[in-house]
Amino acid sequence: MVGRIKVLDEGVINRIAAGEVVERPVSVVKELLENSIDAEASVIVVDIESGGRKLIRVRDNGTGMSRDDAFLALERHATSKLESERDLVSVATMGFRGEALASIASVSKLRLVTKDDSDAAGTEIVVEGGVLRKSTQLGSGRGTMIEVRNLFYNVPVRRKFLKGPGVEADHIRELLVKFALAFPAIGFKFSEDGKSKMDAPAVRSTFERIHTLYSKDVRESLVPVDCARENAQLTGYVARPPYARSNMRSVLTFVNGRSVRDRLINASVNRAFSNLMERGRYPLAMLFLALPPEEVDVNVHPQKAEVRFVNPRHISDLILDGIHEALMGAPFRQPAGPQLPMYPRPVHSPVSQHLRENRESSEPAPSTCGAPVMAQAPPVDVSPSCQPLIESQGRFSSLGILGRLPNSFLVLYSEDELVVMDHHAAHERLLFDRLLKIERQGGTSDSQGLLIPKVLQYSAVESRALAAHLKLLEQAGFVVEEFGEKDFVVKSVPEWFGSTDLEGFFGELVEAMLDTGIKGDPDRLKEELLKRMACTSAVKETSTMHQEEIRSLLRELDHTAAVEVCPHGRPFTVRIPFNEIRKKMSRK
Ligand code: ADP
Ligand code: MG
Repeated sequence: MVGRIKVLDEGVINRIAAGEVVERPVSVVKELLENSIDAEASVIVVDIESGGRKLIRVRDNGTGMSRDDAFLALERHATSKLESERDLVSVATMGFRGEALASIASVSKLRLVTKDDSDAAGTEIVVEGGVLRKSTQLGSGRGTMIEVRNLFYNVPVRRKFLKGPGVEADHIRELLVKFALAFPAIGFKFSEDGKSKMDAPAVRSTFERIHTLYSKDVRESLVPVDCARENAQLTGYVARPPYARSNMRSVLTFVNGRSVRDRLINASVNRAFSNLMERGRYPLAMLFLALPPEEVDVNVHPQKAEVRFVNPRHISDLILDGIHEALMGAPFRQPAGPQLPMYPRPVHSPVSQHLRENRESSEPAPSTCGAPVMAQAPPVDVSPSCQPLIESQGRFSSLGILGRLPNSFLVLYSEDELVVMDHHAAHERLLFDRLLKIERQGGTSDSQGLLIPKVLQYSAVESRALAAHLKLLEQAGFVVEEFGEKDFVVKSVPEWFGSTDLEGFFGELVEAMLDTGIKGDPDRLKEELLKRMACTSAVKETSTMHQEEIRSLLRELDHTAAVEVCPHGRPFTVRIPFNEIRKKMSRK
């Protein structure tokens, strides 16, 4: 076989960003995995000892190298993957700088065993600190094995900067998960200090791969993402909140098959989850972005895996829309659900007033298995005779109502589970989604005039902040006018506002407007203000709530709340399957 490897000419070398290839054990594993993948391996086995400090071994069944190529491979800027500067724009392989093996060999004791189809025997080469120690022929199957021992043994400063074996092993394990997700058709095996940590046979799809890599509770919360805009496509999975993790490392992103960690991508993912996660919690996501090679530069930084997009705005919109569609069934710019009347608050609902009056006179509540709403001792009859109660097919409206518990909890049920719902939090989600939708569509909420306009006074700083957000308030349904330097007159409030305390409400909003943490980010601030509006005016007292009102809430939830968390990211339902209850009662 003709030698495949050529030494790059100076011009190309200079054009390639000089980066330090080897920073720590995980960077070695990454380079070796990339080489195995470029060599078309279908099985890759990785073994490490002491977090890779003592040993990193990568074996593959790829093309292997001829004896001549094996020697060349260990030279700097020797590569079989790039011939000219022109190729730089459209490299399809993972590595192309031709410096990984040489760099690794210069800071470790490296042993390479390889064989391709052209040679009868395999080649073994041992290099220590960049110096050739041994080369022999030996029997071997097709493929390559590279062993890296005592990384940085001759660079004590670097060795000192390594973290403990546990931390280095964590990084390597995470890297393997990323590769395993990106390449489902390749089988991966991974062991740490002799213990198997991953055994992922080759499969046909990312979904099947996820099945081997993640636990049942993760799998059950995943929803598929599949969204295309112009020439870019986003696919993958996100976990539906309230499922959340404690750091961003569970957001795995890939651009054209390469694992990347990019500021723009991460910010867009976080933004898509901004009103679905509690503070300090992070989404779990595996997202694959595919776009034409000329639209993205993945070679900005070889180690940090940053990328540069020709059209960053386009990419962040695609991510926001893709995740929103997956979770909410609608893109980001148009939140889900047809326009429905705002869920009526008890104080402002003549229907409920009427019902309440009637019921108070005819207590106890009708016993037609009619799921009476009771403050204490809710009936727990879920016998078949109750089933006709389940009147609609909606996810929420099909639930039967059993009663109320203290703390604004509603007790509901379906055929196979008991559902405890936080009424306040659910209402908050409804109000918030509605306000956000109106804001994004540039519409306004209906408002009603106050009989006596309310005058509010603020300090100069507060007044400036409030004045800057009058448009948002107007969209939410408030008519507020500036009146002199520091005075404001509230003339109308939105119909959803109910009997919320006006002064306290505006006080909260102004406080948020001045919050230095969010002031600088107009989008976040807007969302924060809407959250506070929703929270302040959502029902708090549910002891006077009637079945009709609860039904109305459930009906509206069908249309809006695809994700059962309030805008602060807290779940508003707890679902207890009857199976679980039966198990706890030791019943069959
Ligand atoms: P690059 O991957 O950027 O070309 P490397 O230093 O990582 O540079 O590898 C140098 C060359 O060695 C590669 O171009 C390839 O031809 C060969 N090589 C490295 N690892 C393998 C492998 N596992 N199987 C087959 N060939 C390999
Ligand atoms: Mg390489």
